[in-house]
Amino acid sequence: MESLLDDYAKFRKTTMSSIIDSMSADPDRLSLMYDWDVDIFVDIIEMQNVDKFPWFDLHWKMMKSEVILLTKEWNDGLHRYCDYKNLTGKERDKIVQIYTASLLARCANPTCKEVEFHVKSFGKCTRCNSVAYCSRGCQKEHWRVSHKKNCGL
Ligand SMILES: [Zn+2]
Ligand SMILES: [Zn+2]
Repeated sequence: MESLLDDYAKFRKTTMSSIIDSMSADPDRLSLMYDWDVDIFVDIIEMQNVDKFPWFDLHWKMMKSEVILLTKEWNDGLHRYCDYKNLTGKERDKIVQIYTASLLARCANPTCKEVEFHVKSFGKCTRCNSVAYCSRGCQKEHWRVSHKKNCGL
């Protein structure tokens, strides 16, 4: 029985590692998940009440209502995780800061630091629907530098 549970844990960890890796490896999608530790990621997933889903921050793939729902679910789970681990004070603040899912997406142009003011307010690339930008300027620059060859991959 114990080895079955071990296998399950290994399976989950491998799956989740590949999710994080695939996001980090994608040159055109700035993910806030770069720094996430897979063990903590998996633990927070286990703390989800509704579905045990892995949060991902590719907002452009989701409907607005879905972004709002999943973000709330994830962040509720994060706080349950902190309670479960008895995290308090600075230690808790640090985990919450890193693992909080954001409703707001970042501009996909890597040289730009703009973040949305409202959910789904940035205009997306209408060809792939996978990235979005704060401005036409950023879209043009990113298209020239890399998105032209990565769009729709
Ligand atoms: Zn921008
Ligand atoms: Zn595109």
